[in-house]
Amino acid sequence: MKAIRLEEPRHFERVEIDEPAQPGPGQALVRTHRMGICGTDYSGYLGKMPFFRYPRIPGHELGVEVLAVGEGVENVKPGDRCSVEPYMNCGRCYACRRGHGNCCESLNVIGVMVDGGLCDRFLIRADKLHPSDKLTYEQLALVETLGIGCHATDRGAPQPGDHVLIIGAGPIGLATLEFTRLTGAEITVMDMIESRLAFCRETYGVPHTILFRGDDSEQEAMLEITGGDRYAVVIDATGNNRSMSNALNYVAHTGTLVYVGITTGEISFPHPTLHKAEMTIKGSRNALPDDFRRIIRLIEDGTIDTGPWITHRVAFDELIDRFESFTRPETGVIKAIVEVN
Ligand SMILES: [Zn+2]
Ligand SMILES: [Zn+2]
Repeated sequence: MKAIRLEEPRHFERVEIDEPAQPGPGQALVRTHRMGICGTDYSGYLGKMPFFRYPRIPGHELGVEVLAVGEGVENVKPGDRCSVEPYMNCGRCYACRRGHGNCCESLNVIGVMVDGGLCDRFLIRADKLHPSDKLTYEQLALVETLGIGCHATDRGAPQPGDHVLIIGAGPIGLATLEFTRLTGAEITVMDMIESRLAFCRETYGVPHTILFRGDDSEQEAMLEITGGDRYAVVIDATGNNRSMSNALNYVAHTGTLVYVGITTGEISFPHPTLHKAEMTIKGSRNALPDDFRRIIRLIEDGTIDTGPWITHRVAFDELIDRFESFTRPETGVIKAIVEVN
C-alpha cells in the first residue's frame, strides 16, 4: 500500500507499507482522499520542528472516507466523509480529565509524533472522526487548520468592539482572523510582508493593517488605531520568539496576549511590562473536539468560505518533486492540498 515517508530532514521517500488490520473495537478504517500541507510539515521537512521524529509518514490535516468500522462505533459508518481530529490523547491525565485533550500530557499528534495520513488507508479511533455529508474532502482537510485559529480566538475571548491585534498573516494568522471576525472585534493585522496585508484587506475586509518595520512606526500606528489604548487582545501567530517577546508592548492594560505559534527559542521581557498592565498571557495548542463540529457547521452554512484558502493542489505522485517549492515564500502558498486518492 502506497505511502510517502519523511526519512530524515529534506528526504522524502515513496514507500510500500503493510496493509492496515481490520478495525478493532472503537476504531475505523479510513481512506485518505485529501491532505493539507501545514507549517508543521514544512518545519518537519526542514528539521526545525521540535516534536517531529523520523522516519515519519506526515499528514494531520485530512479529508477521509470511512471504509469499515469496528465494534461499538456509532458516530460514523462506511461511506461517510470525515475530517480527522489528529490529537490522540490519553483520556486519563489532568488536562484530559478536564476535557482538554488538545493539550494532553502524553499527546500523540498523528503525522507528527506517530505516522499520519499521507498513505492510502489507515486505522484511527472513530471518536476522532467528524463527518459531514455536505463538505468536500478538500474542505474537510482544511478543518484542522481552521481549528488552530478557532481555539486561539477562544483563548483570547475578544468582546464585540474590542481592538484585537493579530501578528503574522500566514495560515495560522488567517485561521485566527476567520474566527476573530465572527466576534465583532475591531481587527488589526500586522505582518512584515505587504502582499499578505493586502490579501487581508481585500479578501477579508480587515480595517487596519500595519507593516512591521522594526522601528517605532508600528507603535505609533497602534496608538492611533486604538485611540491610545493599545489592544485588548493580541494574538501572536508568528512562531518567532523576537516577535513573541515584543508582543507584550502592544497589549492594553488588563489585556490578554495569546501565543498560538510555536518557537524553540526563548521568550523574554522586562517584568514591569507584564506587571504594570496586569496582563494575562495564554498559550493556545491545537483545538477542541467541539471546534471541529463548529467549523464544519460554519463551512456548511457559508459563514466560512474556503475558496481563498486553497492556493495550490498537487497529485500524490508529484508531491516529492514539488514539496520544496512550497517551502519558498515566493511560491505564494497559503494552503497546498495533496490529492492522495
Ligand atoms: Zn496543521
Ligand atoms: Zn491526557
